[in-house]
Amino acid sequence: MSKKYIYSREYKKSNTIININGVKIGEKRIVVMAGPCAVDNISYILETAKSVKKSGAKFLRGGAFKPRTSPYSFQGLGEAGLKILARARKETGLAVVSEVMDTKDVKLVEKYVDIIQVGARNMQNFQLLKSVGRSKKPILLKRGLSATLKEFLMSAEYILKEGNKNIILCERGIRTFVEYTRNTLDLNIIPALKKETHLPVIVDPSHGTGRTDLVTPMSRAAIAAGADGLIIEVHPNPEKAISDKDQTLNLKQFGQLMKEIKPVAEAVGRYL
Ligand code: PEP
Ligand code: MN
Repeated sequence: MSKKYIYSREYKKSNTIININGVKIGEKRIVVMAGPCAVDNISYILETAKSVKKSGAKFLRGGAFKPRTSPYSFQGLGEAGLKILARARKETGLAVVSEVMDTKDVKLVEKYVDIIQVGARNMQNFQLLKSVGRSKKPILLKRGLSATLKEFLMSAEYILKEGNKNIILCERGIRTFVEYTRNTLDLNIIPALKKETHLPVIVDPSHGTGRTDLVTPMSRAAIAAGADGLIIEVHPNPEKAISDKDQTLNLKQFGQLMKEIKPVAEAVGRYL
């Protein structure tokens, strides 16, 4: 007999619903997370948090530990960045999500955030997966740049096996021969994952496209395909964003995105 993986529908039929201070992920309500790629300064973060909250976002995102391609690029503010997020959380009531890159920082990040993000580049960092598997905080697990569906789910299994049952899977685009976008957003994987697993699935069309003009259309498509939520890069002045400015929406564009996904959500029996 084949093994019943904890992620599988055979192991658990009903959808996993993750409750974070009353905000539920994996229910009929679509949950949106928004904020800059990297935490930069308190005034931009507060302005972003207040605005995205008004537009309907439930989580503030922002990296304090940044996985940058070049070692000479800005690497993130570290704990100072986490403190900025915590202040925005206190002032707006938004829950926060931020990435951890190293096992030695899990305890630190855990102290400040509501959801711990494991980035695409660390999807198969098995020590990190085991370490966040022992955390009490929910995990946002991003798909690796060239990970198959099976590899993605096995990474979730590493976390589940350690006892942490609260995992949100995130499709964020994969590497293909396509050169007009940064990555290729694999919408196929949304219904495919839903069939295999009870875990909630969200989509990151910012990294999935790398292009501001494609973020809103692909958000609509993701919701239509059955995603439980979105994570979107937003900054008050994208030109000034330290990283990923070409895929970052301004506050007004984000407000418009929220308006445009609403009827799509309703068309597929969901709401915002
Ligand atoms: C991010 O969310 O800013 C990020 C670095 O994402 P990914 O790990 O998907 O590249
Ligand atoms: Mn980014």
